[in-house]
Amino acid sequence: MSRRRGKGYIRALLLVGVIALSVYGINRLFKSDIFEKEPPKIDLKSEFYWNLKSPLTVHIFDNKSLKNISVKLSDGEHEVRLMQNGFKPNLKSFDAKILLPKLGISRDAKVLKLTIEATDTSKWNFFMGNSAKKQAIIKIDSKKPDLFPLISSYGINKGGAALAIFKAEDENLQDLYIETNFNKKFKPVPFYKKNYYAVLVAWPVTQKRFSAKIVAIDKAGNKSRSRLSFFLKNRKYRTSTIKASDKFVNGKIVDLAEDRPEETKDLTPAQKLDFINSKYRQMNNKIIRKITSKIDKNLLTDFKLEPFYPLKNGKVVATFGDHRFYKYKGEVVSEAYHLGIDLASTKMADILCTNKGVAVFANYNGIYGNNLIIYHGLGLYSLYGHCSNILVRKGDIVHPWQVVAKTGATGLALGDHLHFSILIQGIFVRPAEWIDSTWLKTNITDVIENAKKMLDRQR
Ligand SMILES: [Zn+2]
Repeated sequence: MSRRRGKGYIRALLLVGVIALSVYGINRLFKSDIFEKEPPKIDLKSEFYWNLKSPLTVHIFDNKSLKNISVKLSDGEHEVRLMQNGFKPNLKSFDAKILLPKLGISRDAKVLKLTIEATDTSKWNFFMGNSAKKQAIIKIDSKKPDLFPLISSYGINKGGAALAIFKAEDENLQDLYIETNFNKKFKPVPFYKKNYYAVLVAWPVTQKRFSAKIVAIDKAGNKSRSRLSFFLKNRKYRTSTIKASDKFVNGKIVDLAEDRPEETKDLTPAQKLDFINSKYRQMNNKIIRKITSKIDKNLLTDFKLEPFYPLKNGKVVATFGDHRFYKYKGEVVSEAYHLGIDLASTKMADILCTNKGVAVFANYNGIYGNNLIIYHGLGLYSLYGHCSNILVRKGDIVHPWQVVAKTGATGLALGDHLHFSILIQGIFVRPAEWIDSTWLKTNITDVIENAKKMLDRQR
């Protein structure tokens, strides 16, 4: 090999090397973020409502970083380009806050068109970046829902219930409920005529105060509130101490603890008593609350109720709202509220359901033993506990005065008796009210009938 030929060979080798490195480099460059091809994402629905007041927030984001954002609002005749204060390029995401501009857009427009475009900092598309564009039709609704109380029960007892009938009107009504001071929302049902609603509300026995407001919200976020005014009747409830005997603890309590072997196997008798009376009661009540919180949405045209009278010649042996402290071997080891009344007559006596309804639960439920729950409409439920036998099945229609179960001593019961509860959308209320024909007529059935008369006159 000559010297010259040797030099040429090295040069060719270098050239190949340079080309290979360049190809590798360009390839790396194209595969890198600089030339990424993913456009920004604009989180915008194609159609929605707006009240022109609360700012609209549109979330825009990119996998790498944003370069430009354009927001245009049009009323069909004029288009206004909205400045994006606060937008800084090279950020990954941006919340565009959109307010009605002071000029250029008609205040009377029923529909607006929003156009948002975003470009990212990628060098793709001949250094122009990836772009995204989204448009939305905005339906304008700046009118608040109308709320008018029509008629209601005069008062509400602590631990008791009341009925209210009202009008709620809005072209785009989205949500309607009763807000309370104790974090419970009651849902109304449509009543008799268009835009009218009925609702049963409850004042839980464990709450010192009661207040309730109707809340109506439309699709554009306009919100109205109207207070439900009832005469508030505070009531004192009993406090009692129950002495738990060894027979009771070693019998009923030990038996019930076997329902939850994992949680109770290492507990002392006193701890077992508290577990059954507190934790297990809560678990059982949770099941009841879940079932009885449901409300149908059917139009209510009638709500004729007979007083509840579940046990013929039944003697009241324990009252509602009793705050019970359980004493074992001289010490208070547990406490609970008694959220029903106890009625006793003979063993395995007939349990009557005096009102029509549908069985929604017919099963064993811990301290309630064999437990039957019947739904009567408008969020009202009746509950029967400690049954020896349940004669209806879940889903069965119950007819007025039907024998639905037999009394017993299943669950946390000493002797044969019926534990009877009334619930309104998951809240236990005073059964005494629903057993009392005068209370029922004045506070419920007359209110319904008077409301219907008032609405008939409006024709
Ligand atoms: Zn009871």
